[in-house]
Amino acid sequence: SLSRISRLPISSTQSPCLHFARALSRSTAPSGRPTKITFFSSKEYEIDSFNRCKNDKVEFDYHETKLQPSTVALAKGSDAICLVVNDKADAETLKKVKEAGIKLLALRCAGADNVDLKKAHELGITVVSVPQYSPDAVAEFAVGMMLTVIRKFHKSYNRVRENNFSLEGLLGFNIKERTIGVIGTGAIGLRVARILSHGFGAKVIGYDPFINEELKNDPKFTYVSFDDLLAQADIITLHSPLLPSTKHLINGETIAKMKEGVVLINTSRGGLVDSKALVEGLKSKKLSAAGLDVYEKEARYFFQDKSQSVIQDDVLARLLGFNNVFISGHQAFLTKEALTSIAKTTLDNVNAVVNGEDCPNVLKAPK
Ligand code: NAD
Repeated sequence: SLSRISRLPISSTQSPCLHFARALSRSTAPSGRPTKITFFSSKEYEIDSFNRCKNDKVEFDYHETKLQPSTVALAKGSDAICLVVNDKADAETLKKVKEAGIKLLALRCAGADNVDLKKAHELGITVVSVPQYSPDAVAEFAVGMMLTVIRKFHKSYNRVRENNFSLEGLLGFNIKERTIGVIGTGAIGLRVARILSHGFGAKVIGYDPFINEELKNDPKFTYVSFDDLLAQADIITLHSPLLPSTKHLINGETIAKMKEGVVLINTSRGGLVDSKALVEGLKSKKLSAAGLDVYEKEARYFFQDKSQSVIQDDVLARLLGFNNVFISGHQAFLTKEALTSIAKTTLDNVNAVVNGEDCPNVLKAPK
């Protein structure tokens, strides 16, 4: 059904990406044929946004399968491979990409922790990404997740469906005047801080090795040290990228420094949290609740319907077993606005690289 959708006629007059389709109309692969992009991990919900940005100078080939060494062959003859967060572009996969004669990897997501950038550069493969598509989408979701676990929406939803209108066990707390710790104050962290301080009247503190000037000048926000944030926050929300320096930022030691009954929200990357330590923190009641849109070993499960299988990951199963933990499957980005923005920027990136133009979203190799 995916390839059927990819062949749907596109009416450029109805397209929200009209200016973009025009730009793309100048884009053809060097031989004069349309630029061919092979998509991996394609989902129905995103195909529509891409097809609305399409014209006859570009050809899309959608595949549901993940990008891995054994599936690279599906992209043979393409000008670019389009991939997402859980497609693994490791050294072995990249070697196959190079052998298939493909020189461009277009990530249709922000984080690039799934791509061996050093190897890609060694092999002469250009990697582009969509650094920002809708920080509001993720920020709004993070705040929704916060309310869900604090006010126990997930419990009342299930309870009322069974005609159980009891309020026992649903006691929450106000966000107003609570201290919220924002770790990572970039595009998303800034928005979360603003919603919570200006909207809810919370006291918002933040930690980031790089100061965001917009927030620094906000009287309703205070930068603190990492340890002070851990010690003071009633709710901690993570918005830093996954880097070698941020892997397991939340671990047994840092959890020990947190307030009793702290709430943790992670809509950033699973690898920021040592999940086993999180389980221990929940068991000991150091954490009173957690909202997780990401999980460090999510690639095996997320973005797929696994309802007919048994979860083999004992840590994930344990986390799913807590009734004060709310887990979603990497959904925070999923709004109409974000998908349109992702499609536009991805095609803009491919267009620029194929035509040898400057592309601001080319990723550099790490030093
Ligand atoms: P951004 O680059 O604008 O901001 C990230 C911030 O983290 C920067 O200010 C950076 O200085 C800071 N940072 C770096 N190292 C840090 C550290 N050790 N401690 C604290 N802060 C540190 O990125 P963004 O657009 O705000 O996105 C943040 C993250 O959200 C992305 O890296 C991505 O992993 C995640 N994300 C998740 C979803 C989703 O659907 N769940 C969608 C988009 C992005």
